[in-house]
Amino acid sequence: MVDEDFPVTLVRAPIVSTERALNNEATPCIAFAYLNGYLRSKGYHCEVIDCIAEGLNRLWPVAEFPGYMCQGLTWDEVIERIPPNSQVIGFSTMFSGEWPIVRMLIRRVRQRFPDALIVAGGEHITAMPEYSMRDCPAIDVCVCGEGEHALYEICEARREGRDFSQISGAAHIDRDGAFLKVEPKRIRDIDELAWPFWPDGYLERFWAAGKSYGVQTARDMPIMASRGCPYQCTFCSNSRMWTTRYILRDIDDLIGEIKSYVARYDITALQFYDLTAITKKRWTMEFCQRLIDEGLDYLKWSLPSGTRSEALDGEVLAMLKRTNCNYLVYAPESGSSDTLEKINKRIDLEKLTGSVIEATRRGIIVRTNLIIGFPYETRNNILKTIRYGLYLAWKGADEVTINIFSPYPGTEIFEELIGRGGVVVNDDYFLALTSLNSDYTLFNPMTCNIYVGARELAIYRLGFMLLNYIIGYIRYPSRIWRTLHNVFFGGGAAATVLEHRLKDARKKAAGGRMGSIR
Ligand code: SF4
Repeated sequence: MVDEDFPVTLVRAPIVSTERALNNEATPCIAFAYLNGYLRSKGYHCEVIDCIAEGLNRLWPVAEFPGYMCQGLTWDEVIERIPPNSQVIGFSTMFSGEWPIVRMLIRRVRQRFPDALIVAGGEHITAMPEYSMRDCPAIDVCVCGEGEHALYEICEARREGRDFSQISGAAHIDRDGAFLKVEPKRIRDIDELAWPFWPDGYLERFWAAGKSYGVQTARDMPIMASRGCPYQCTFCSNSRMWTTRYILRDIDDLIGEIKSYVARYDITALQFYDLTAITKKRWTMEFCQRLIDEGLDYLKWSLPSGTRSEALDGEVLAMLKRTNCNYLVYAPESGSSDTLEKINKRIDLEKLTGSVIEATRRGIIVRTNLIIGFPYETRNNILKTIRYGLYLAWKGADEVTINIFSPYPGTEIFEELIGRGGVVVNDDYFLALTSLNSDYTLFNPMTCNIYVGARELAIYRLGFMLLNYIIGYIRYPSRIWRTLHNVFFGGGAAATVLEHRLKDARKKAAGGRMGSIR
């Protein structure tokens, strides 16, 4: 029974990027779908205002922060859409680089809805709850860590007039100005969670606009098979958000969810949004076998958010290919064993390289992610990573990306940098994270590296990006046809980030779906 008298509204802010941004892909918000499903299963009426979904490809400049753009609904459009009787309004902030902009939106919403309870959650809030609340007093309470149960408890507390002091994962500032936080607890029985709730017409917007997380098909379905990651890389905020508890879903439950999407949407592909989807060989083989047994192996499926390579040996890769897996993203992060040790990335580079080569040999589209510019990384180690990336491109990886290290809150490296004054937290810092993440030109506002300057790192990144594609197209000329087909003639699939961006550019040039508000 859904309670219409206590509506909860969840707001997803626009994508923030620089005016020169290349990398600002819009994807469906699976976190909100989970929150929505959970609150509904507990009897709440939940509305989602997703600025990105409702304003796909609409760009507008942020007057307060020259040089930065938003993609999505404007503040006025968001406020118009929030049901006037909303009792709880929740905001999600995944990326710290978006914080100054999300903060503006929260303040606007507070002015218009002075009596609603304003809740904020997500990776950024989990990493910096006290900072966020003091920087934006419009927030009443933060959700740290996994959101479903904490948000539900907060709604219950609000209905019953209780405070938040007993709710795991809740953080707030009390009347005396003291910051109070109850440590979050992981949800252990994830199979008991309600499946994500996708409002009518929501996913269809992304499909119609050709937006996809990875290799695009007609109707790509976001899904998750696990939560958390057992590793503790020092540049990743995973352990702060999720702890190191790694939980895989029950395969029956997962297959049931997939079948429900086949029935409802006639989906064409599954895109796994997991932090680390494949770590266990037995689970992976069983899952693939079930796809075959249930006649679901006609669906394409992919791991676009990066995966470990330990369980991806020849046998598993053969099974992945057999069951129509079409896209894998590996995240070796570095080609230097020194750097890998320093960042605590526990991988066997030789095995990972073998797995990449085997996957490409089997015809799976492969992307690999690398990072340069860690704080203590020498130029020599950076060059090793670049050489390694070129080797992967030569050996057949379809796309090798190099990012410049970003010191994200909630990571071990960030804490260390803060401790010695290597990072000062303010709006310039947050926006520099956005620039690092979205702007691949030679403009690079930040480096934490003590040996190599910001401009030099940007030159390496841009030069590498071009070389990676040149090697790929010269050595594997059939990709030229694939790209031309996908961008100009197919109208459907896009296999790489480059193809996605070229498609966007073509639409923009044709005056198609790209719009701008000024
Ligand atoms: S970088 Fe990947 S493997 Fe490392 S802790 Fe984060 S999610 Fe886990």
